[in-house]
Amino acid sequence: MDIADFHGRSRPDACPGALQVHAAADGGLARVRVPGGRLTPAQLRELAAAARRHGDGAVELTSRANVQVRGLAHDDRTRDVSGDDPATGADDEGPGGDDGAGNGVPEDGFAARMARAGLLPSATHERVRNILASPLTGLDGPGGGGVTDVTPLIGELDRRLCARPALAALPGRFMFALDDGRGDVAGLGADAAVLAAGPDRFALLLAGTDTGLRVGTDEAVTALLAAAEAFLDELAARDVTAWRISELPDGPALVAARVSAALGPDPTADRTVQAPPSEPVRPRPVALGPVGLIGAAAPPGTARSDPARVALGVAVPLGRLTSAQAEVLADVASGGDIRLTPWRGVVLPGLTRTEAVDAAGRLRAAGLVVDPGSPWIGVTACAGRPGCAKSLADVRADATAVVALAPPARHASRTDTLPVHWAGCARRCGRPKGRVADVVATGHGYRLELDGTGLTCSGIEETAAAVTAARGEL
Ligand code: SF4
Repeated sequence: MDIADFHGRSRPDACPGALQVHAAADGGLARVRVPGGRLTPAQLRELAAAARRHGDGAVELTSRANVQVRGLAHDDRTRDVSGDDPATGADDEGPGGDDGAGNGVPEDGFAARMARAGLLPSATHERVRNILASPLTGLDGPGGGGVTDVTPLIGELDRRLCARPALAALPGRFMFALDDGRGDVAGLGADAAVLAAGPDRFALLLAGTDTGLRVGTDEAVTALLAAAEAFLDELAARDVTAWRISELPDGPALVAARVSAALGPDPTADRTVQAPPSEPVRPRPVALGPVGLIGAAAPPGTARSDPARVALGVAVPLGRLTSAQAEVLADVASGGDIRLTPWRGVVLPGLTRTEAVDAAGRLRAAGLVVDPGSPWIGVTACAGRPGCAKSLADVRADATAVVALAPPARHASRTDTLPVHWAGCARRCGRPKGRVADVVATGHGYRLELDGTGLTCSGIEETAAAVTAARGEL
């Protein structure tokens, strides 16, 4: 389609935030942005306490490494929004002013608690702080895949994003990504991403397409913000509404041209533009997050990595952390840093080996997954019943039943296993990118779909057998 024929969406996106709460079937749904997935133990504790006090008691992890809480009572809904998408636990996310404690937020309500915990630094920009970052960046040394540490860019991007009033108009679904070169988050569908091509060199990708623009570290955030502004300028010029760059015909090229013009002449001559690029980078979607000990075998390395320390990757079944589990995570995060991953898991960096072993035992006992051979690896689900009125089944309960029937792992690790996504209807909210086995409720059972073929299953045992076969675990 030509851009001249593009008429856009009929309405702005309605992604929930902490202030703009969605009225879901099971109560209010609030989503809290966590740039780079970085939380302190104190913030996780506060989230857990707020979920227990105001919501259904669980902290849900999203595929953008954000968190959400369901079941909020009416008093906690600062502004209800409607719309069919966000109810669902789908992770496409949507702005909010000055500080979170203003705008009529009840002082003892959910949003005010988030603001006091430092999780709602801007009411105007709360829904647009969607920033993915490589969760292992800076942790595993040169052997781990990253070529630089993007940690400093997370805070810089968040600060500068929130400091630009015009960018509060971004759709809540617009997403940034900071990839340290391992290609883990650049393939996850961000609108604007930088992917490290060297210690001080980044490729700019728009809607997953390499623009050919290469910038140094000092321009990486500037380029991302220029892309966001260029997207809004393009919408304004066309007088259309769109939620993602990919929705615009020729969106990446149109936005890239504006970014290049906005950056202007390069005073250092470090920047290059080659469109189309002769050797484009094409990051592939990564479907599974890190689980188990990380960094133990990595060569001692960069100034940031410490060979005496390891990280622990934790998978969270169906992305739902009970408040008790969240408390245990906060307790064992002795490195002082908790990193949420876009695979609905957590990385705890900076542990000694003894601390990691102890932490693994406590987390396992709490029902979290630290074993790379666990049948929970790669299993995701939409909200289903009772959270979504459209759902034909309680997909989380059924997915749990099927995981319980899974055969023992044939290998010590399932980290290359086929992802399986359970959905209560054909919309398949929250489906991971890439090759996935879909298990979709039909009202009479499930239909397993993979690579264009489908199999209808009438009961849990039949569905479990089909999932096992699809994953090659017979
Ligand atoms: S039931 Fe359908 S609309 Fe509801 S969360 Fe699941 S996939 Fe989305």
